[in-house]
Amino acid sequence: ISAVELTTVFLQRIQSLDSQLQSFITLNEEGALASARRADEQRAAGSVAPLLGLPIAHKDIFSTRGLRTTCGSRMLENYVPPFDATVVERLEQAGTVVLGKLNMDEFAMGSSNETSHYGAVRNPWDTRLVPGGSSGGSAAAVAAGLAPAATGTDTGGSIRQPAAFCGITGLKPTYGRVSRYGMIAFASSLDQAGPMARSAEDCALLMDAMAGHDPRDSTSHPRAAGEFSAGLQRPVQGLRIGVAEEFFIDGLDTQVADLVRAAIAQLEDMGARIVPIHLPHNAVAVSAYYVLAPAEASSNLARFDGVRYGHRSRDVDNLQELYLQSRFEGFGAEVRRRILIGTYVLSAGYYDAYYLKAQKVRSLIREDFRRAFAEVDLIAGPTTPTAAFALGAKREDPVSMYLADIYTIAVNLAGIPALNLPCGFTREGLPVGMQLMGNYFADELLLAVGHAYQ
Ligand code: GLN
Repeated sequence: ISAVELTTVFLQRIQSLDSQLQSFITLNEEGALASARRADEQRAAGSVAPLLGLPIAHKDIFSTRGLRTTCGSRMLENYVPPFDATVVERLEQAGTVVLGKLNMDEFAMGSSNETSHYGAVRNPWDTRLVPGGSSGGSAAAVAAGLAPAATGTDTGGSIRQPAAFCGITGLKPTYGRVSRYGMIAFASSLDQAGPMARSAEDCALLMDAMAGHDPRDSTSHPRAAGEFSAGLQRPVQGLRIGVAEEFFIDGLDTQVADLVRAAIAQLEDMGARIVPIHLPHNAVAVSAYYVLAPAEASSNLARFDGVRYGHRSRDVDNLQELYLQSRFEGFGAEVRRRILIGTYVLSAGYYDAYYLKAQKVRSLIREDFRRAFAEVDLIAGPTTPTAAFALGAKREDPVSMYLADIYTIAVNLAGIPALNLPCGFTREGLPVGMQLMGNYFADELLLAVGHAYQ
């Protein structure tokens, strides 16, 4: 099959099915067909680019040259970037064809995709349910077969939680392995891009292209590149897998708990040794995150001032009003809430009580993992406390929405990698995910174990 034929199939699927899911914000029909034609020519000329002709789609947080990039916000409704994010550039060099830009929670703030200015995404397994967030468009598109693979970003769970809700595989890499250049910033010390696909093997193939040092991102690691697909054959035999009892607590749905325990037992059957461990500070990870992430967001989002780019209010009399009105009109309620919280916790008089305290909690969480990884190679547990919930169920209750990330957030605070692996279905037919966490730079190991499990 040629790249043009393959691309045409996916474009047609999107056109006929996505009105039910709303997983795409912008379709790149002409651009995709043009790069598919180029891929076919390159193949005829003997190119061996590893992903040559593979259609993919990008979360709308990645800047794409000449292709609208909204970040799910009204603020960037008409923004067409003059440059590509490094992730986009690297995947393009590997030969991928960009089908379009995927729906997401506004500025990646959310766990259900309901904060998008472009409408809520639906879960393909049951369209009355949310797909998770913030990379909900990515998860829904891959799960529904509208794209073979997609990019996502994960600041507190935004790759793993939607991957779990939609039954796909998603990796949040070690902080610093994938460049953040051109990825619209939410909380820079936590943000990390990663692959979302049907299998660990597909994620590894994407990581081969995505990871690598980038001088344009000051937090990019000099040894960021890796042997992701080449390392997939590593055996599970003899691995020590830690299971924290703190994960199996009140609030964890019993069906999710049973499926995750069964998946862990399967890893044991494959030769892994299960070791009980403790992560005592996991319980306060969400609280620390909702100080630190808004603090960083309030600073990062200061750039949207209505002057340089983005939404500009029309009827204003002076500069102060221009800032206020443009930001009020451009940002949705959740983004405004985060900016207010962030500004508050950073303000003189409150800084020590909130921001500094949260940074200390962050150190304790990092220390929990350091201690755990002295004894085990991996940690296994649930990705989410429940399977996908109904649209609207948590929309009016931010705290219950925030708790959807209770199992994923500590990973970002520590900067370690973690993988969501689908591990079965509830009696209602909804997918459930197991989360594997690894030490720094254990991304390859996670993918290898995921591959063996699948
Ligand atoms: N749901 C979390 C939040 O709303 C995490 C989002 C993310 O990882 N981008 O902040």
